[in-house]
Amino acid sequence: MTNELRWNPILGEWIIVAAKREKRPWRPNYCPFCPGSEETGEGWRVLVLPNRYPALRVDAEVASSSKDIYCVKPGYGYCEVVIETPMHEGDLCDLSLEHLKEVIDAFSQRYVELGRDPKIKYVFEFRNKGAAIGVSLHHPHSQIYALPFIPPRVKRELDNSRKFYKENGRCLFCRILELEYESKSRILYENADFTVFLPFFAMWPYEVHVYPRRHVQNLPMLTEEERYSLADALKVITKAYNMLFDMNLPYIMAVHQSPTDGGEYKYYHLHIEFYPPNRDANKLKYAAGIEWGAGVFTYDGLPEERAMQLKKAVNKALNDLKKKEGYKALGAMVQS
Ligand SMILES: [Zn+2]
Ligand SMILES: [Zn+2]
Ligand SMILES: [Zn+2]
Repeated sequence: MTNELRWNPILGEWIIVAAKREKRPWRPNYCPFCPGSEETGEGWRVLVLPNRYPALRVDAEVASSSKDIYCVKPGYGYCEVVIETPMHEGDLCDLSLEHLKEVIDAFSQRYVELGRDPKIKYVFEFRNKGAAIGVSLHHPHSQIYALPFIPPRVKRELDNSRKFYKENGRCLFCRILELEYESKSRILYENADFTVFLPFFAMWPYEVHVYPRRHVQNLPMLTEEERYSLADALKVITKAYNMLFDMNLPYIMAVHQSPTDGGEYKYYHLHIEFYPPNRDANKLKYAAGIEWGAGVFTYDGLPEERAMQLKKAVNKALNDLKKKEGYKALGAMVQS
C-alpha cells in the first residue's frame, strides 16, 4: 500500500500517487452503497463513510524518497463518500428539499471535522455524475478529499481574489454577482439567498455557478435558512440539467470554500461550480490539445445563447417539479 505525494517542480503542483488503488471494482454487480450492505447498515437518510479505496490515508506509506528536486511526501489525508440517499438511483433533484439540506449539513459537518486536523489544509467536496465522467458506482453519492495542501485551482482563485480585494477593498465574487445582475442575460435562477448563473467566462458549454448573495467563505457560515435556499438552488439546477436534452446530463460539481489551514480568507466567497461535459445530447466536449496541452479553453458559441437554453430548461424544471412532486420552488427563473 503506497500513498505518496510527488511534486511536479515544473508546474509547481502535487500529484497523488496511490498504488493498489487500481484494484477498485469497476461497476460491481451488487451495490455497496445500498442499505443493508456490510458497510451501510440500515436506518439512515444520508451516510458518510470512509472511502474503501482512498487516494490519501492517515497511515500513508511512501515507496520512494525525495531526491534533489524530486520531492516526495506521504499522501496524508482522508477520502470519504457521502451516500446521499438510500435510493439506488437518481440525482440531487430527486431528493426532497429537507433531504437535500441534510446532504448540505453533512458537507458542512465534514468540512469542520476534517478541517480540525492541523495537517489538513483543504477540504474538497465534489460530486461526479454519469458514466461520461467515469463514475463507477451509480448510487447517488458525493466525495470528500481532505488534502494536506491547497489545490492549485483554488489557489489561483485565492490569489486573484486576494489581489482584487487589496486593490479595490472588496470581494471579486460579490463584484461578479453585481455585473451579472446588471445584464441578467446569464442569470438562470435566483431565490432569497442564492444566484445561479452561467458565467461570462464559462469554460464548459453549460457550466453553471451557484453563489450565495451574502459574503461568506464556507458552508458552516450559512444560516439554516440559507441552507434551504442552497438546497433549492441545487434541486432546480440539477433538474434543469436533466430537462435540457431530456436525458440524464452528466456533470462534475465542485464546492469551493476557504482553506482550513488557519489562514484569514475574508476576501474569498463560497460558491459551487458545475461542469457538464456535453455540447448537446450526443456530443461531448473534451479537454483536448488546446485545453489540456496549453491550458486555454475555447468556447464554441456564445455563453449568452446557452444561458437562454438553460433558462428555458429551468422553467421546464420548475413546472415538472410542481406537477410531479408538488414542489414549490423558493425562487424563480430570471428574465433577461
Ligand atoms: Zn445502491
Ligand atoms: Zn463576496
Ligand atoms: Zn471556483
